[in-house]
Amino acid sequence: MTGLGTRSLRDEVCALCAAALDGAPLAERELETLLAIDDEILAGEVFAAARRARAAHFGDGVFLYGFVYFSTYCRNACAFCYYRAGNPMSPRYRKTVEEVVAVCEGLAASGVDLLDLTMGEDPVIHGEPGYRTLLDLVSAVRAATGLPVMVSPGVLPDAALRDLRAAGADWYALYQETHTPELYARLRVGQAFGARAAARRGARAAGLLVEDGMLTGIGDTAADRARSVAAMRDEAWEQVRVMTFVPQEGTPLAGVPPQGDLAELLTIAVLRLVLPDRLIPASLDVDGIRGLERRLLAGANVVTSIVPPATGLAGVSNAVLDIDEGYRTVAGVLPHLERLGLRPAGPAAYCLTLERLRASAAGRGSAASAAAAPPPKEAPA
Ligand code: SF4
Repeated sequence: MTGLGTRSLRDEVCALCAAALDGAPLAERELETLLAIDDEILAGEVFAAARRARAAHFGDGVFLYGFVYFSTYCRNACAFCYYRAGNPMSPRYRKTVEEVVAVCEGLAASGVDLLDLTMGEDPVIHGEPGYRTLLDLVSAVRAATGLPVMVSPGVLPDAALRDLRAAGADWYALYQETHTPELYARLRVGQAFGARAAARRGARAAGLLVEDGMLTGIGDTAADRARSVAAMRDEAWEQVRVMTFVPQEGTPLAGVPPQGDLAELLTIAVLRLVLPDRLIPASLDVDGIRGLERRLLAGANVVTSIVPPATGLAGVSNAVLDIDEGYRTVAGVLPHLERLGLRPAGPAAYCLTLERLRASAAGRGSAASAAAAPPPKEAPA
């Protein structure tokens, strides 16, 4: 605790921000105070503090991630997800290795720093001995582009996580969505809470960098969000994210009224204050290009869900928003960075950041250190 006495909410918020900027570990109750703010002006104090924290660690540089949702089949039935098993409304496709490599080459040429290869828990890929197709995909993308690769494949056993790392994957993304077990049981229906947490730890032990994430606007309270922020801080994951729930046709939560983005923006800012040197995304998947600047102003330093137009690839929360219009591209993002006095940090800065994060993870039980990381395969000509 930071030992705050009785004072106005504004004074308390400013004191908490100042304490966080000084490196004081905020208690969960104090995180909840920041996350419960319902006033845009007061929220602006938190956003300003988050921008100071971001500038101290990343200057004006922002990283750009390409997103390839290569299989929309899934065996799970998450209540919030458009691609849950049995939803007849959602588009289903499974791209070939060649198709994915071609898309990734285009994304690499456009200037992204990382390629995020995402799938549902596709029963075909998960049913294959040794996850051969997934490993081949990672190797092929790495060899063709030379860029770091993130894989979001769902829960994998430890051996497969080690194989992913050996195939050249840098990151494993697996979102808990909420760290409150009762709420989790309603969202990730029929999936063990502990199995996801164990998979992230297995990934770190295998030498992969790890992203965890949470969802808001889904029946969560400020206390739930504070628990998630504290949980992600305590594990010191290398990338942490929050996204606002977007109601999806054909799902049990289709009728939930959409909420605004204040809870998401405050959570981005609080994540930045408690994990100032980590990567925190501003996703284009929630509110498209029009929501980008608000998320960057809240302290995000990665633009995710850049999707090439006219490839038939979907987003996760918003299957089509801004994709074929070409707004979710590097060219579509750059004017927004410029307007905020930010700039693309570029692949060299990204690789240095990954080295720093690997060194940090090595101190927390990762098999990888910066020196032990396998070298990138050859870059394209
Ligand atoms: S969130 Fe992921 S695991 Fe859950 S139903 Fe959707 S694609 Fe499947």
